[in-house]
Amino acid sequence: MKSAAVVLAALVFTASPARAQEAPAPAQEAGAAKEASAAAERPAASDIARFLAGGAIGLGLHESGHLLTGALFGADPGMKAVSFGPLPFFAITHEPVSPAREYTIAASGFWVQHATSEWLLTRRPGLRREHAPLAKGVLAFNVLASTAYATAAFGTFGPYERDTRAMADALGVSEPWIGGLILAPAVLDAWRYFKPESRWAAWTSRAMKVGAVLVVATAASR
Ligand SMILES: [Zn+2]
Repeated sequence: MKSAAVVLAALVFTASPARAQEAPAPAQEAGAAKEASAAAERPAASDIARFLAGGAIGLGLHESGHLLTGALFGADPGMKAVSFGPLPFFAITHEPVSPAREYTIAASGFWVQHATSEWLLTRRPGLRREHAPLAKGVLAFNVLASTAYATAAFGTFGPYERDTRAMADALGVSEPWIGGLILAPAVLDAWRYFKPESRWAAWTSRAMKVGAVLVVATAASR
């Protein structure tokens, strides 16, 4: 969670260069300019609110993924509030289904995260330099949620309803494997945010995301 906090801080406080440059810096006013520059780099309250709204949108999209696939399979999906440390999460409950469908319902929150991050990073490679707190909030949620889930998966702790536990059971693998499957694209997407020119990171991330869908075949054969 500590590394997640660092990523969050980096995403929030990566100041827009355009705004940082607004502060004049003549040599004789170095002290005053330094203060003005520090003020310009401080995110405005409205930006923080939009960033957090982006995070809420990310959470909503994740849960919508579960609800959509649950409804698609006629599994009568419902919501149940659970907590993961200080973070509130909603677990999606549903009727018993086959392993392949169980995997799909449990994984679809991550699939939605993967798709939205991919869309953001592909359409807006310069996102980091943009003044776009809402989009950055969505991306931060995606990276942090996956990191938090992966941490829980590696340690096999957290609420029983957690997605990674359900995915692992449906595939018949140990949960840390699912942690790796979820963490890798999140780390790569964070890397791409800072290094948009990195083609290997983009294609490795995409391959991992496709892989997270294709492993459903393993569940289907059980
Ligand atoms: Zn979920």
